[in-house]
Amino acid sequence: MKFVLASHNRGKLREMQAILASLDVEVVLQSDVGLALEPEETGTTFAENAAIKAKAVMEASGLPSIADDSGLCVDWLGGAPGIYSARYGGLDSDEARCRLLLESLQGATNRAAHFHSAVVCAFPDGDVLEASGDCFGTIAYAPRGEGGFGYDPVFFLPELRKTFAQLTPEEKNAVSHRGNALRAFAAVLKNYLEKNGYGTDQ
Ligand code: IMP
Repeated sequence: MKFVLASHNRGKLREMQAILASLDVEVVLQSDVGLALEPEETGTTFAENAAIKAKAVMEASGLPSIADDSGLCVDWLGGAPGIYSARYGGLDSDEARCRLLLESLQGATNRAAHFHSAVVCAFPDGDVLEASGDCFGTIAYAPRGEGGFGYDPVFFLPELRKTFAQLTPEEKNAVSHRGNALRAFAAVLKNYLEKNGYGTDQ
C-alpha cells in the first residue's frame, strides 16, 4: 500500500521509511506526488494539527496520508511554546527562540519539559489512525552541542547527561518524541493492515 507523508522534509521521510521497513508499505513525500499545499494549522492540539495536514493531503492525493506535528512543552511556562514552538515569540531563528526560552526561565524553580509528537494517518474511506510519543527532560541553563535543530541545544536529558544536540541522530531517534511516536504508529498501522487483510512482511 502506498502512503503520502504530508511533509517536504526528506529527513522525516527517511526516518519514517526506516521505522516502517518491516511493513509492506511504500511512503513518498507529498512533493513526490506533485502536491505543494501547506494547510493552515488551525488546531488547538498537536493531534488536531496533524489530522488537518493528513486529511488535506489525503483529499488532494486520493491516497492514505500520514502527518506529524511536534513541539516543546515547558512546565514552568504552562506548556508553552507547545503547538506554537516553530514561531515562539514571533522570532525567526532557532537560536533566538532558544535564547527567549532561557530568558523566560530565569529564576524558575522547575525546569521540567517534554517534547510531544502526534502522528495521524487519514485513509480515503474515512478511517483515521493516531499515535503519539513523548520525551521527558529539562531545559538546560545554556545551549550545549552542535547537532540537531530547533530547541535541541537547550533540551537536556538527565539520564544521558546530554542535550539532544549532543546526541548522534541514531541516539536521538532511540529516545526522542518523534522516534517514540513513529514506533507507536508502526505498531498501530501493522495491526490495522492485518485486521483489514493487507499482508505485512512479518
Ligand atoms: P514539527 O511539527 O516537527 O515541524 O515541529 C515544530 C517545531 O517544534 C519545530 O520547528 C521545532 O521548533 C520544535 N521541535 C519539534 N521537534 C523537535 C526536535 O526534535 N528538536 C528540537 N525542536 C523540535
